[in-house]
Amino acid sequence: MPDSPAVTHLFRQLPVVILLLLGMLSSSAFAASSPQHLQGWEYRWGDSPVHDGSPLWTQNKEPRAWQAIDFPSNPPKRQGQTHVWYRTQLPENLWQDPVIYIYSIDLIAEVYLGTEKIYTFGEFDQEGRGRFQGWPWHLIELPEGFSGQTLHFRVYSDYTDIGLWGEVKILERSHLLLEIIQSSYLDLLVIVFCTLMGLIAFAFAFMQTNRRPFIYLGLLTLAVGSKLLGENQAVQLVMDAPLFRTYLTAAGYFLLPVFIALLLSEWFQNKGQGLMKKLALAHLVYLILALGLSLIGVLQLSITYPLFDGLFILTLTVLLYLTAKNFQNLNQDQRLVMSAFWVLAVFLLVDMAVAHGFLPWARFPLSVGVLVFALTLMVISLREYQRTQKALHQLNASLEDRIKERTASLQTYAQLERQRSNQLTLLNRHAQELEDLVAELQSFQTLEQAGNYLQQQLPQTFQPYQIRVQLLDKAVPGTNTTDSTPSPYQWFLTLEDIHLGAQTFAKLHLNPDPSLTDQHQLEQLNSFMGRVAERLSMSLTSLKIRQNLQRLSYEDALTGLKNRRFMDEALEREIALAKRNKRPLSLLICDIDHFKNFNDNHGHEAGDWVLYTLSQVLLEHFRETDIPCRFGGEEFVVLLPGTGKETAATRAQELLDKVTSSPLTYLEQDLGQITISLGVASWPDQALNPDELLKAADKALYRAKQKGRNRVEVAGNNY
Ligand code: GH3
Ligand code: MG
Ligand code: MG
Repeated sequence: MPDSPAVTHLFRQLPVVILLLLGMLSSSAFAASSPQHLQGWEYRWGDSPVHDGSPLWTQNKEPRAWQAIDFPSNPPKRQGQTHVWYRTQLPENLWQDPVIYIYSIDLIAEVYLGTEKIYTFGEFDQEGRGRFQGWPWHLIELPEGFSGQTLHFRVYSDYTDIGLWGEVKILERSHLLLEIIQSSYLDLLVIVFCTLMGLIAFAFAFMQTNRRPFIYLGLLTLAVGSKLLGENQAVQLVMDAPLFRTYLTAAGYFLLPVFIALLLSEWFQNKGQGLMKKLALAHLVYLILALGLSLIGVLQLSITYPLFDGLFILTLTVLLYLTAKNFQNLNQDQRLVMSAFWVLAVFLLVDMAVAHGFLPWARFPLSVGVLVFALTLMVISLREYQRTQKALHQLNASLEDRIKERTASLQTYAQLERQRSNQLTLLNRHAQELEDLVAELQSFQTLEQAGNYLQQQLPQTFQPYQIRVQLLDKAVPGTNTTDSTPSPYQWFLTLEDIHLGAQTFAKLHLNPDPSLTDQHQLEQLNSFMGRVAERLSMSLTSLKIRQNLQRLSYEDALTGLKNRRFMDEALEREIALAKRNKRPLSLLICDIDHFKNFNDNHGHEAGDWVLYTLSQVLLEHFRETDIPCRFGGEEFVVLLPGTGKETAATRAQELLDKVTSSPLTYLEQDLGQITISLGVASWPDQALNPDELLKAADKALYRAKQKGRNRVEVAGNNY
């Protein structure tokens, strides 16, 4: 145990430290005698028996038992000894406040001036043994009148080394403290720096995804910091807990290979990475065992050092081998890391060599080596971090650009979709309007009327689209919508005819909105117009068919004249018109005389030909506005709007003359002549309604037949 409690120690040294610091700052020269290394050492293996209350060996009774040694450490022929004594004669006192300084002791010691014990480090038991107490430096105060006296050291060690270590010298107390501070302040700075670096590394570790290199770096620098703190001599001035500090040093020191191996494994991936990790794990296990067992008192912390150093040398060798072997495959950063590691390895090896006495003792700046390594890694890691950040930033920027682009294109797309949907809605509405239009078309009797209606109505119906209907003067045969489309904005309205094929009836022209550039909408519109053209074409074709059918249903197939059905309707209509216009209407019935005989004589075909010929005569003989019809069999009716009874009779007589005077030939066969009989009646003279008018004319005809045929009879007022 130390001589005095820590607090007293601290308060005793503190004013001196402050004074020294002030002295250092003012750079004032320190006036005192220079330090003197203690010389003339002698040693003696074993422990001294006690005689008269003091160790016998201090009483200087067996001078020949002592042997000379350069420095009181590890005398030869130890042979398992755990006790050794050293002695030396103190010089003349040349100092004002002289003290003895010992760098370190392996492991515990008592110091005697003459026979008087003046200093104890550690606790000796009955057998003169004691436990390891750490490796602090020692300051031994000398009493007055020490000059020329013999100083004895009783040392116990079960460690590989036994004795004093480093330096043993006599000097001014103030000088010593100054030296301690001078030798420590650089390390103190390094400790602060390591701590800062560790914190920075941790901060970076939390800022990125690949955290491990930074975490290991942070832990390594903290481990270095703890090692340096534990062994820093100046710290002892303010914290007198040597064993604790030794544990701190050991923990920091034993952790170095753990984080060095882990860091290297991060940097040299796939190149012995597994082995590096195993080494790190081995060291971690060693650390836990060494510190754990020491703390519970199973073993002394001091004896864990040599084994650790052996393991560490092995680890360093393997790491050096692994890193050197893959040198060719490494990139620039990795080579830098490796070079820094090599520097560190050299520092570590030299440090170990000094610690174990393979190299002469010197204050060795291991911290510089570690610092170089940690700094290099820090710089490279930061560079890497910067690169990653830059890459990330660029990625972000390009991502943002892409998002912007995407948003813009989505907006355009959405707008386009809106337009498309609007157009679709509009076209749907137009499709319904088209159906109304088609229904309207069906009410027309003729294609011409329907065409005019379309021309007028279609442009209005399909607003805002600009559509124009161009009616072709005459339906053009041989065209349809699929071939010969002159422009993409033109569609044909065609009429299908069984005999003539497709005929173009009209053209639809679309004047497209120049702002409409969307291909999809254009196609939509195009296909809609195609459907419109198709629908209208169908409707017009059906109108045409209806028109034809109607025509056929009112037409007599043989003669091409209107038939009786038509005549019935026409008669009714004409009487109504005559009534409204207050003008006469005459009706004339014409019947071929003895036509049965004619058929019998010349054949039915010749009879048909005669019927056709007569119909042509009727068409030719009467006015455009007159309506000749085939009434049935060989009977014909002619309606004469605006014609009075007399004129009608005259026209009938003229017809009769014409027919009877025309000789008939059929297939170069002379058919002779036919005669006809005619009955004439007029509205409103002989009848007031269609039935009466027809009956009146028929009666007149009957009379003509009665009177011998080949004549015209006019109905009287009472038929
Ligand atoms: P009448 O002078 O009294 O009118 O004597 P008719 O023989 O003309 O009259 P009838 O009523 O006895 O005979 C009408 C004949 O007309 C009967 C038929 O052979 C003929 N006929 C009616 N329709 C056609 C037709 O479409 N083609 C032909 N070739 N003959 C027809
Ligand atoms: Mg007849
Ligand atoms: Mg007849």
